[in-house]
Amino acid sequence: MKIGLNSLSLWFDNNIEKNKLEDSGKDNIDWIRCIPFVALHLGCLAVFFVGWSVPSIMVALILYIVRMFAITGFYHRYFSHRSFKTSRFIQFFFAVLGASAVQRGPLWWSSYHRYHHKHSDTAMDIHSPSQAGFWKSHMFWFMGKSNFRTKNELIGDFIKYPELRILDRFDTLVPILLAVGVTFIGYILNTYKPEWGTNGPQLFVWGFIISTVFLFHGTCSTNSIAHRFGTKRYITGDDSRNNLFISLITLGEGWHNNHHHYPSSINQGFYWWEIDITYAVLKVLSLFGIIWDLKKVPKNILRTSLVT
Ligand SMILES: [Zn+2]
Ligand SMILES: [Zn+2]
Repeated sequence: MKIGLNSLSLWFDNNIEKNKLEDSGKDNIDWIRCIPFVALHLGCLAVFFVGWSVPSIMVALILYIVRMFAITGFYHRYFSHRSFKTSRFIQFFFAVLGASAVQRGPLWWSSYHRYHHKHSDTAMDIHSPSQAGFWKSHMFWFMGKSNFRTKNELIGDFIKYPELRILDRFDTLVPILLAVGVTFIGYILNTYKPEWGTNGPQLFVWGFIISTVFLFHGTCSTNSIAHRFGTKRYITGDDSRNNLFISLITLGEGWHNNHHHYPSSINQGFYWWEIDITYAVLKVLSLFGIIWDLKKVPKNILRTSLVT
């Protein structure tokens, strides 16, 4: 019972001390802690009660794209791989936007991702499809009791910022605010633009629940699908693949074999035909001086370790 209550409190406060209690060292799933995650999926069924409208689908799509960019451009390419530099304000701004994706805090996300690159597709890799099977690599890994704790030892360069530590600890706060925000907008639209055919519950279901579930599975496909299906350009010592479909739904993360070849490159599509929307947006941000010192793959590395 004590452990159950602890799981409940960790819904709102991802405190490392409490996590240590939960950290049994075992892989078993903490179902109590994962109730919100399961509820989010079941919540998609509410679409049969709230219906749809053009504004609700537009909001779902926009929130998918904006939050996917925050995950790929910042959680991944910035916080995990430091492929460019930016100001402390922009760093925090996109950390908050990334947290709205309901994929936990930036320090948690990046520390586990760095761990993945250290041990790709070996017995140590927590989300390798070849080691653990498809479903564990896709989602069961982060539901395991031992994987809730942020790996502080791997993210020392960012853990020094108190605002990021607070965001990481109270990571559910941002998604809750987003859910309340979209529902409120739905009520406003229903009052002032009734001809648009949307309302609070409908915008909550489309803008928050459905958009977040699609966003989640899109992101996780990089671990599960792009480590199994696709083509291999480089010998990287792991099973990473280049996959156009995953690149399209993740704004460029599907060029995963390229990425494992040279992880600190800001562009994961190495050639013009490898569509990488995240890189295009980051490039625009750099033109406005919002980010700088973009790291790219050196020409000689571009042509080494090729699969013949
Ligand atoms: Zn990978
Ligand atoms: Zn990476």
